[in-house]
Amino acid sequence: MGPETLREIRHRLLGWYDANRRDLPWRSQGGARPDPYSVWVSEVMLQQTRVETVRPYFERWMAAFPTVHVLAEAPEDSVLKAWEGLGYYSRARNLHRAVREVAARYGGEVPADPDAFRSLPGVGRYTAGAVASIAFAREAPIVDGNVRRVFARLTDTAAPSDADLWQLAERIVVGERPGDLNQALMELGAIVCVPRSPHCGECPVREHCRAFAAGTVDDRPARRSAKPVPVEHHGVAVLVRDGHALLIKRPDGGRLAGMWEFPGACRRDGESAREAARRAVLDAGRAGAAGDAPEVTLEIELEPLCTVTHAFTHVRVVYEAFIGRAGSRANEREREIAGRAWVDLRKIGDYALPKAQQRIAAALKSEE
Ligand code: SF4
Repeated sequence: MGPETLREIRHRLLGWYDANRRDLPWRSQGGARPDPYSVWVSEVMLQQTRVETVRPYFERWMAAFPTVHVLAEAPEDSVLKAWEGLGYYSRARNLHRAVREVAARYGGEVPADPDAFRSLPGVGRYTAGAVASIAFAREAPIVDGNVRRVFARLTDTAAPSDADLWQLAERIVVGERPGDLNQALMELGAIVCVPRSPHCGECPVREHCRAFAAGTVDDRPARRSAKPVPVEHHGVAVLVRDGHALLIKRPDGGRLAGMWEFPGACRRDGESAREAARRAVLDAGRAGAAGDAPEVTLEIELEPLCTVTHAFTHVRVVYEAFIGRAGSRANEREREIAGRAWVDLRKIGDYALPKAQQRIAAALKSEE
């Protein structure tokens, strides 16, 4: 695309954005530049999550952690709890770590320099570009799924390379309103140039759209062939005694790090879900303080409770949950040792549980 076409596209995008932008809580009102921290939070939440899902989370988050300093000082459990239900929890943990670094190294001011900002945990090119352009009016490009689709259609390219996409983004985000240009592109992809049956009749850049001219809109970008997703089968033990259930905190690294869950284990070859659940409790007992969970499991029956399936990015997990009722050990109630806790059933909601575990907790609640 030549400079004249790009100038025209910019002009049309901004005019369209001014007339059609959605009123979202993280967007500035009346031309004022938005607070970098709130832009950052919103952009992290919006990755892989829809605007309408993010809106209430964002509002609750900003009420609970209104500034970099408040978030930096918050315990990780309360941060994960506030994120509960948004998924991809590493985003929350990285944001928390990065904000702590901003508090310690930059006095709580989000760095305007894109390189400094990008050196923070979890900040990739997309987030850096969004914050630099929207909050600091830098000519920093962004490419997300929506922008990729718009560009593939504008250029009539089936499978544009990342390098080409970023280069085009760089050439478009020029001038006095880089943040609005980036948001206009994303907004266009979200509400007009949608994946199926785009609303080309309402599109401000239709005249410059090569796919529209060629009649190839529905084939741009070409669909990536879906790889079969592996499936894991887990056995989960919901142990209950004296109105309390045993919860285990997941380790600091890996999938769902730092979240709480009922003891569970991936089934081994030839092992039933019930046997895997029993093994998980024995492991939990061995890992924690002496004499806690093991004899509980050996004594009690595990009865089927529910089956829950959850799709992660690269794997689908089927959780088969069993309930076991143990005898009274009143002196251990509500104790939290080495990442394990007997939690009052009425207070399970206070713990940061991943979605599948929440559904198991709901099944437990209706069983009780
Ligand atoms: Fe997308 Fe249609 Fe606009 Fe092309 S004309 S950018 S396909 S909405």
